[in-house]
Amino acid sequence: MKIENLFIKRTKELPSDATTPGHKLALKGGYIHQTGAGLYTYSSLGLRLLLNIEKIIREELNKLNCQEILMPMVSPASLWKESERYESVDVLLKFKTRAGMDAVLNPTHEEIISDYVRSGLQSYKQLPFCLYQIQTKYRDELRARAGLIRTREFMMKDAYSFHTSWDSLNEFYDKMLNAYKNIYEKIGLSKVIDILAPTGDMGGKISHEFQMISDIGEDTIYVCESCDYRANKEVLTDKDAEDILLCPKCGKKLNKLRGVEVGNIFQLGDKYTKSMKVEYMTEEGKSTNPIMGCYGIGVSRCLACLLEQSESESKAVFNMNIAPYKVHIISIGDETDIINYSEKLYEQLSNDGIDVILDTTNDRAGSKFANADLIGAPIRAIISKKNKEAGVFEMKYSGLKGEYENNINIDEVYNTISNIIKKEL
Ligand SMILES: [Zn+2]
Repeated sequence: MKIENLFIKRTKELPSDATTPGHKLALKGGYIHQTGAGLYTYSSLGLRLLLNIEKIIREELNKLNCQEILMPMVSPASLWKESERYESVDVLLKFKTRAGMDAVLNPTHEEIISDYVRSGLQSYKQLPFCLYQIQTKYRDELRARAGLIRTREFMMKDAYSFHTSWDSLNEFYDKMLNAYKNIYEKIGLSKVIDILAPTGDMGGKISHEFQMISDIGEDTIYVCESCDYRANKEVLTDKDAEDILLCPKCGKKLNKLRGVEVGNIFQLGDKYTKSMKVEYMTEEGKSTNPIMGCYGIGVSRCLACLLEQSESESKAVFNMNIAPYKVHIISIGDETDIINYSEKLYEQLSNDGIDVILDTTNDRAGSKFANADLIGAPIRAIISKKNKEAGVFEMKYSGLKGEYENNINIDEVYNTISNIIKKEL
């Protein structure tokens, strides 16, 4: 992509509700544009981030033989009435279609997946399996906050597994818990921990949340300073959690932290399969309900958290998996040679399928570097008159694992950059 062709809207005058570093960076860098309260348009930069997060999620889930499907955003209200959640879920946006059908915009899909599975499930021989989708969801929140942290419309990965026994669900649940850890690590979200969570609206038995420790978090979490006990405040509310400072497991002190929830997993049991009449025939020929688990990741919230952990509101830092562009080539000066060297490197890397951005504009060097800071490519290759005379590109590497700078011979710059990227991807 040549930078002059990149269409993004950058907000210079930040709105008063942009209070967190990530929200400011998202607007200053042109990753998002607010279309309405809690409703955002993603620029090509923002969408590239989202798609790269989705790619990592797909890779990890496919390793567990999860099968990707796609369910509708709109569903008949009758499915939500069957599970008796039509009245109790307050974020459900209800409407009537022109044909007179009572409908909802789905904020989650337990009812819809149950309807799908009951249509095709017959025998224990088909179990276990796990189905997932990555799709836009809508929650009719009363208020939205901090840019992409709490939005009304958001991108989510939701997975649903079906089993013949609790043992089978437990085994799969643990595998999913590990897959989630891999996903957050590959995305580059540091400070994400899994904690015990309340089951809330979802019902069921056991639940874990994945929380990014952050002062901007809405959730209060408690982490034991001596053992592995970690829990959401709501898990502790048999008593008044504010007063509980001692670990229920080992009796030592609990530290109170703030967190942003980036994922959750639930052991639902037969709550939905029973109410939605999902049944299969056991080996003994008896009709029964499968045991169910569900597993969510807020894809757009992961993006928001990535921006929150960037260096500042003016500097995005992404790892190679996630970065919208892997290499940013900057030429300084308008000499033909300098531009030719930049364009040659751009073509070589682009021909290999590497996402590269090229800046040969007449802008000031400072403005070009500020632009590159906002785009966050892990590798920058800079050529100026001075560099050209020395026969080198100046290469700056900046990723989540650190920074370094090298001068690289013009003839070797393509191979060097290409090898760094191959090694990291
Ligand atoms: Zn403890």
